[in-house]
Amino acid sequence: MLRSILFILFLGSCFFLMAGPGLFDPAKAADGQNKDLPVFDTHVHYKEPAWSVYPPDVIIEMMERAGVVKALVSSSPDEGTRMLYRQDPERIIPFLRPYHDEVTSSNWHQQEEIIDYFKKRLEMPIYKGLGEFHIHNPIDADSPVIKKTVKLAVERDLYIHVHSNHRAVEQIFAYEPQVKILWAHAGMSDPPAVVADMFERFENLWVDISIREYEIAPNGILAPEWQKLFLEHSDRITIGSDTWVNGQWDNYEEIIAFDRHWLAQLPPEVAKQIAFDNAKRLFIDGT
Ligand SMILES: [Zn+2]
Repeated sequence: MLRSILFILFLGSCFFLMAGPGLFDPAKAADGQNKDLPVFDTHVHYKEPAWSVYPPDVIIEMMERAGVVKALVSSSPDEGTRMLYRQDPERIIPFLRPYHDEVTSSNWHQQEEIIDYFKKRLEMPIYKGLGEFHIHNPIDADSPVIKKTVKLAVERDLYIHVHSNHRAVEQIFAYEPQVKILWAHAGMSDPPAVVADMFERFENLWVDISIREYEIAPNGILAPEWQKLFLEHSDRITIGSDTWVNGQWDNYEEIIAFDRHWLAQLPPEVAKQIAFDNAKRLFIDGT
């Protein structure tokens, strides 16, 4: 008798947990079923304006509180990445970004000397990739500097983390099919159907969906077209916070809590792949 009462109570609490989400409330999401899911944040920047406001030990504490156990970090300048890596080499997976001093997202592809800059910084053998870098105009994917960058990545077995639309990605794969691309923000404005088409055409393509969270789950409810992409290509997708300005650090725990909230609307094994396993396979196991 006692056993069946307990069973009924158990069923009741399951139903309560599974009841559909209303408008998003980060506090509730943090109490939700995914709060213990480990997260690999694949789009972190630790730019100079953040250094004094959020020193490295504070950043690591914020990650710890958010359940972010691994983080792919690239910074402008690169010293930010090294500072975080020194603070917590187990957690931080460094990528090397071209931007520093006068080298910016708009002009880096015209700077021949950036290849020597990459080679010099790569002498410290901590980097898993080049980027995140921008290709604002797809035609620039064919510039000599970007071609050399892609070639260097292939030679050194590094990923490239590319912020561009799908045309630039197509151009890069046209001249270097071997390169491994983490496509930032899943193209930022490319719809899920275009992302799916790109996955089918290019086997060395993965995406992070940072900055697209609120399109993925408007009012906290997972959109059907994104759900379809996640279910059909669950091995190609990662999540990220994109701390490109301090405002993103101000909201860091809420951003990760929101990701947990929509991930909880997917089958648990798919949520786990997207939250952690895919990035671990790529950037830690190297398989
Ligand atoms: Zn970014």
